Amino acid sequence: MINIALDGPSGAGKSTLAKALAAKLGYIYTDTGAMYRTIGLAVKRADISLEYKDAIIALLPAIKISLRFENGEQKIYLGEEDVGGLIRTNEISSYASKVSAIPEVRTHLLDLQRDIAAKNNVIMDGRDIGTVILPNADVKFFVTVSDKERARRRYKELIAKGENTTEEEVYEMMKARDLQDSTRAVAPAIPAADAISLDNSGDFDEVIAKALSIIEEKTKG
Ligand code: C5P
Repeated sequence: MINIALDGPSGAGKSTLAKALAAKLGYIYTDTGAMYRTIGLAVKRADISLEYKDAIIALLPAIKISLRFENGEQKIYLGEEDVGGLIRTNEISSYASKVSAIPEVRTHLLDLQRDIAAKNNVIMDGRDIGTVILPNADVKFFVTVSDKERARRRYKELIAKGENTTEEEVYEMMKARDLQDSTRAVAPAIPAADAISLDNSGDFDEVIAKALSIIEEKTKG
C-alpha cells in the first residue's frame, strides 16, 4: 500500500490539499484531526472538565470512532451518529487540542489510523503522521502557510458555517493551539526529519502539481 503523510499546523489548508490529491490519485483521504475533534465532542457531551485527565481516559473505551465512505464522501461517526457537522467549531477545536495532548488519547487512535493505512493507499492528514503514526510512509509532506493567511482562511471557513467570531480571535486561538500542539510532550506537531516542506501560500494548482510530481518520483518502481 502507498502511504502519504501530510502534516502541518491548523489552517494550512492540509485537508483541501489532501482531498484534491486523494481524488487525483484514487487514494483514500484520512482526516486524523476529525478523530481528535470527535473525542473532544464526546468529552464535552459527557460534561467532563478538561483538567480531569483520568475521567477523560476512563471515557475512552466508550468512544467508538469510525470512518465510513458514503457516496464517495468520507464521514466520521461517533457510535452510530454522523458527527461531521458538529466538530468544526472553535470550541471543539480547543477541546481537540487539549485532549490530543493526553498520551492515552493518542494511543486510542493509533491502531485505527495504522489500520486504515495498512489496508488502503492513503493520504493521511494530521500532525504526527510522518513522525509517529507512519514513520515508513512513502512520502512525507509538511505543509506551511503564513500565519496571517492561515487565520484568514480559517476565519472564512468558520463564518461560512455561521459561527460568530472575528479574524483576530481566530488568529489568537490558532496561535495558542499551535503552541500547545508543537510544545506538548507527546507527539509534538513538528516536521519529520525526512519530510518535504510544501508551501501552500501560492496558487493551488501549482501546489498540487508540485506535490503530485514529488509523489510520482518517490513512488515509481
Ligand atoms: O487538523 P485539525 O485542526 O482538525 O485538528 C484538531 C486538533 O487535533 C489539533 O489542534 C491537534 O491538537 C489535534 N491533532 C493531533 N494530531 C493529529 C491531528 C490532530 O494532535 N494527527
